[in-house]
Parts: sequence; structure tokens; C-alpha cells
Amino acid sequence: MAFPEPLERLIRALEKFPGVGARSAERMALHVLRSPREEVAELAMALRDARVETVRCERCGNVSLETLCTICADETRDAGLVCVVEGPREVEKMESAGVYEGTYHVLLEGFSPREGAQPESAAMRRLCDRVAGGTVREVVLATAPDREGEGAAMLVVEALRGMSVQITRLARGLPVGTRLEYLHGEILAEAFRGRRECAADGGPVESGGAPEA
Ligand SMILES: [Zn+2]
Repeated sequence: MAFPEPLERLIRALEKFPGVGARSAERMALHVLRSPREEVAELAMALRDARVETVRCERCGNVSLETLCTICADETRDAGLVCVVEGPREVEKMESAGVYEGTYHVLLEGFSPREGAQPESAAMRRLCDRVAGGTVREVVLATAPDREGEGAAMLVVEALRGMSVQITRLARGLPVGTRLEYLHGEILAEAFRGRRECAADGGPVESGGAPEA
């Protein structure tokens, strides 16, 4: 082992971050050694606070400071409209596009399927409970138009089969493989306005039009 143990330990910890390989972990760790002690203390505190002080909203599963996130707790939002997304980054993207007044459902237990998480029964059960509660009239699938996103959308359609709720998808025309979080706000708004009713297999219904919102 070339580095003293505490430095080696830091490198091992940094390597666990997504997209960080051994070389970058080393560079980051050596950067920490060069940084002022106050900055390092602040970083350690920020890491801890982000993990300890946030929970997942008990209704939609989004990251939150309270039991209910600010969107679910906001009574001016349309609770009858639920947009199903893969993670908090997609919620953030939809919110900054400023075109959506409904609520969300963050589908995956892990925050990203690309990081190895699978749709878990808890998130799906929460969605079914919300729909069974009777206030939801439309579920909009806004998962990415790629393999993981399509798979997740099909699971939702399957889970909600037979329940009295309209299921729609964001309009196609989104570039294949584009994740919601990378889309320009106006394109996203367009995709939302052009959303179509879903066929039983999760695909678009040919003759379906956008439902009255
Ligand atoms: Zn919420």
C-alpha cells in the first residue's frame, strides 16, 4: 500500500461514487489533503447532513425534508394528476420547466436504474395505494424512452391494470435514449402537452389524443 492508511481509506470511499474510478479517487483524495481544514470540515458536514436530514416523501417517494415533500404538501397542486418519473433529478427537471401543476411518483427505490436499482415493490405498492385512494384520475408515464425507462413504464401499466385511472405517456418525438433530465424545458413542455393515452402494453394508442387536462 503506497499511501498512509487514512488516505488509502479515503480513496476507497471515494471510489464508491458513480463514475469515479481509481485514478479520479486518488486525485480527489490528494485534493482533500491540499484543502484548508475548514473546507474539509464543511464537506464532511455536508455529506452527513445530506444523508441524515433528508427522507423520502411517504406519498411520492421524492427526496424531502419532511414526511410529505413540498409538492405533495402543496394544496394548490393537482393531486388528481400523477407524473411517474424515475428519480428526483427528473422531478427537478419537470419543475424547472414550469409546465406541470400535478404531483409526482418517484418510481425507483434506488434513485437511478443506471446505478443498478430495480423497480421495487414498495414504490409500486405506494402508487397502487394512491390510485386506489380514488383521487387520482390520470397517471402520466414520464420515464425515459430507452430500455430501462420502457421496462419501468410497462411495470406501472401492469400494476395499474384494471384500476379506474387513465394512463398516458409523454409524446414521442423525444430523441431515443434522452433522459428527461437533459431535455430543454420547452421540448419537455411540448412532450407533456402532447401526451397520449397508453395501450395495455405500455405503448402509445394510435388514435389517442391528449386528454382534457
Ligand atoms: Zn411527495
